[in-house]
Amino acid sequence: MSDHQAQDLLSRRYRVMGHHTPLFYEKPLQLVRGEGVWLWDSEGKRYLDVYNNVPHVGHCNPRVVEALSRQASTLNIHTRYLHNNIVDYLERLTATFDDGLQMAMLTCTGSESNELALRMARYCTGGQGIIVTDFAYHGNTEAVAEIGTGFMPESRTTKRVKAFPIPDSYRGIDGLTGEALAQAYADRVQQAIDQFHAEGIKVAGILVCPDFANEGLLNVPAGFLEQAVAKVRQAGGVFIADEVQVGFGRSGKHFWAHQWYDLTPDIVTMGKPMGNGHPLAGVVARPEMIEAFSKESMYFNTFGGNPVSCAVGMAVLDVLEQDNLMQNALTTGAYVTEGLRKLQHKHELIGEVRDLGMFFAVELVRDRTSKAPAKAEARRIINRMRDKGVLISTIGVHDSILKLRPPMPFQPEHADILLQTLDQVLIEMEGGV
Ligand code: PMP
Repeated sequence: MSDHQAQDLLSRRYRVMGHHTPLFYEKPLQLVRGEGVWLWDSEGKRYLDVYNNVPHVGHCNPRVVEALSRQASTLNIHTRYLHNNIVDYLERLTATFDDGLQMAMLTCTGSESNELALRMARYCTGGQGIIVTDFAYHGNTEAVAEIGTGFMPESRTTKRVKAFPIPDSYRGIDGLTGEALAQAYADRVQQAIDQFHAEGIKVAGILVCPDFANEGLLNVPAGFLEQAVAKVRQAGGVFIADEVQVGFGRSGKHFWAHQWYDLTPDIVTMGKPMGNGHPLAGVVARPEMIEAFSKESMYFNTFGGNPVSCAVGMAVLDVLEQDNLMQNALTTGAYVTEGLRKLQHKHELIGEVRDLGMFFAVELVRDRTSKAPAKAEARRIINRMRDKGVLISTIGVHDSILKLRPPMPFQPEHADILLQTLDQVLIEMEGGV
């Protein structure tokens, strides 16, 4: 596609979609094909995908595509009829959770799952107050926009939501570290509870991503989340773990990110990687919560849990298992982290490298002492990486943290391409080229 044609497509997009629908990169990318960890643009140029977690078991995975097309050519129907697929899938899915979480409801997006979780938490506790971080994104429905403290105007005016500072060991609070820092953050959660009570609002729960991924894939001070959840439960609220981004074995060691903690959530929400690109999402919760909520509020989702979606979900679980992708997240993940740490020794711009299995955050700072966020540099790096055929993005309050979150079949040979390209771009930025 010529520059002229690309410009024309962009103008048409602006006309029908408006100017503010997010689009990656200064020079937007027109992708036409995907396979495994690779993507191709309209000119036939190949890109290494180090960003997308939705194609969890690889772009256009043949076993997933085959399961989808086989069921789509047999029957697709909603869940008000008996069908094996949804029961088989949910039995298999709930078996990956702790004993207390053995019932589920299916939806189509992470936002819908969080919306349902909020309704269920509010219904079952009789409270309204929800506690989140002060840089949260959990989706785009009205109730979920209220908890979206990172981007959503609704979160600024609502009375039903209070925020605590992101639990970040790198920047911390008042120079505190370790247990004292965990305690200080947990105290901020208690302050949110106390504020709700002062305003006559009962607490319904705390909702966080267990890896605090959109917040910057934070190193959470040990013990913080356990203390925070205990305080919320003491106040009558529940713990909702948003696993929409980080679930399905990405951390390598555990299938679910909350399993790193000494905690069982009351509700877990899932989505993105669940259908490898097919819109499949859901909520797992304590059975008594689902029974109580659904007895009163008839919950039905036309597309959620249909036989095609469930066939796809099952195929994703099969591929994860057959290809040992959790083990790969551990071994290739460790290889990537080691490479990133070497780059940190070489390049002053890298303040910290954080990792959880096949998910990495590279915190960029102008100066390692002041930790001033290197936002403009981060933007330049992702655009230069794109020019050189490697796709990454940024996260965090200042958009100064590189977000590396490839499909799970990512191998050391792909890691070498990522690391070499990042090294070249950093050298270039430092004026070496
Ligand atoms: N929760 C988290 C943590 C997310 O990252 C996202 C999507 N980025 C969502 C919820 C919303 O999911 P969806 O876009 O499928 O509605």
